[in-house]
Amino acid sequence: MAQAVFQSSYLSRSDFSKNSSKSSIIFGSQLRSPTMEKTQLRTLDSVKTKSTVRLKAVMESPGLTQEVVENEPKVGGVTNEAANHFKELKHRFLGFKKDKYLSNLERYQQLSEAQYPKFMVIACADSRVCPSSVLGFQPGEAFVVRNVANLVPPHENGPTETNAALEFAVNSLEVENILVVGHSCCGGIKALMSLQDEVISSSFIRSWVVVGSPAKSKTKAAASNLNFDQQCKHCEKESINRSLMNLLSYPWIEERVVRGKLSIHGGYYDFIDCTFEKWTLDYKGTTMHGDSECSIKNREFWT
Ligand SMILES: [Zn+2]
Repeated sequence: MAQAVFQSSYLSRSDFSKNSSKSSIIFGSQLRSPTMEKTQLRTLDSVKTKSTVRLKAVMESPGLTQEVVENEPKVGGVTNEAANHFKELKHRFLGFKKDKYLSNLERYQQLSEAQYPKFMVIACADSRVCPSSVLGFQPGEAFVVRNVANLVPPHENGPTETNAALEFAVNSLEVENILVVGHSCCGGIKALMSLQDEVISSSFIRSWVVVGSPAKSKTKAAASNLNFDQQCKHCEKESINRSLMNLLSYPWIEERVVRGKLSIHGGYYDFIDCTFEKWTLDYKGTTMHGDSECSIKNREFWT
């Protein structure tokens, strides 16, 4: 398995020569100006042992940060409210540091060197559906990209941040599973289902959710007798299957699926009754051309 380090700030000289894959070019030194790179290397030269420095940082008192935040001038209610939100975040962070990070220091130090997640997860940006909360992914276990309505655009649509993340996860991290997770009451899918074909709009949301148009058409054909909310629910699941098929439009994904190195899964989290439905794409039964049809297997309901 190729070693891949997502955070380039941790790369050492040896990492630069070791990581020669395409993605390390993207995330590593190639995008930086020579000056930036020199500065980075000089900084790294001055750091004799990375782990010692990190350990020192870990043990440092948060006193300085505390002082700066507490001396912040408070102008109006919004600033106070924001300060309170951040006070809460600080409390949570320090709790994480004490209860998780410092309690599992060896694990977190390994993670600071490299990551080997088994999962790539594509989930909605909705604040209620964080995959780490719902599925319990721990740091290092899942490479996650979140977008409006958890859509995977087809290869021919060109670059987006979603397929950039996919490329890195599949080609460099060599994840074994891609999981597309949809959810109940998805605002992005509702926006897709509400689109009027004839309306011209400069909305970014509209421009993005049209990726799911084939799922909308299929929903309209199969569920026109249902009310709008039920149609949206149908489309929430239909669009997941469309995304699973769109994943196969990337040659480097299909090639790994054919070789049995990568599995593609769908998931649906219903936060009204807290159930999770999971299924796996059946590559052999799926047709990509003409009347494209997604075949699935290993369907499970977690209730
Ligand atoms: Zn959503």
